[in-house]
Amino acid sequence: MSLEPDGTGDSPHLVIYNRIWQSIAERKLRPGTRLKEEQLAEIFAVSRARVRQALSALERDGLVTLIPNRGAFVAEPSIDEARDIFFARRTIEAQLVRRLCATRTPEALTRLHDHVARERAARDRGDKTDCVRLSGGFHLLIGELAGSPYLGDVLRDLVSRTSLILVMYQRRSQADCGPDEHAEIVEAIAGQDAKRAMSLMDHHMDHLEGTLDLDDDLARQADLKELLQ
Ligand SMILES: [Zn+2]
Repeated sequence: MSLEPDGTGDSPHLVIYNRIWQSIAERKLRPGTRLKEEQLAEIFAVSRARVRQALSALERDGLVTLIPNRGAFVAEPSIDEARDIFFARRTIEAQLVRRLCATRTPEALTRLHDHVARERAARDRGDKTDCVRLSGGFHLLIGELAGSPYLGDVLRDLVSRTSLILVMYQRRSQADCGPDEHAEIVEAIAGQDAKRAMSLMDHHMDHLEGTLDLDDDLARQADLKELLQ
C-alpha cells in the first residue's frame, strides 16, 4: 500500500485506504476508534464490499484491527510493539543506508536530494499532510534505492505502523521527522561515508523514538463523518 496517497483516479478502496491513512497520520482519527462499515460506505458512496477491501488492506498494514462480530477499529499498538518496531527499523535502515553508500548512482542521489527539497517545501508552506507523507516517503525511498524489494516491503509495513505509534505516543504534535536530519543522511550517502550514514540513521531513529510518551492520554473520537471530511 502506498504512503504517497494519490486519491485521483485510484480505485475506490484505495481512496478509502488513503483517506483513513491520512486521517490517522494527521491525528484526527485516534487509535481505538471504531470504523463502521455501513457509515464508511455512506461517506464514500461505495458498496460495503469496497469498504471491506479497504479495511483488510489497512489491517494488513497494521493500521486497523478487525475483531469478529465487533467490527473494525483503528489499531492500538502497545508500547512493547512500538519498541520492537523501532528496533526493527533501526536494524534494517542502518544496513540499507550502508548498502546505498556502496551502490548509489547519480540518479539515486538526484532522487534523494529532490525528495528532501520537497520535504522542505512542504514544511515551509505549512502543509502538514504532505510533511507526514513525504517524511515516511523518505525512508521508503531509501528502501527502494538500496535495491532490496523484500526489505522495501518490510520497511513499508514498519513505516505505516510507525505513523500509528507516533499518533498514539508522541509527546508533541509533530508527526514527521523533519527534513534536516534526512538531508544529513543524504550527504553521508553522497560522500559514501557508510559509518557516518549508519550513525546518523541510528541517531535519527533514537530521536524519533525519544519523542514517544508512554503516558499519553488517548481521546476516543466517535464522529467518523466529521473526521473524514
Ligand atoms: Zn525520518
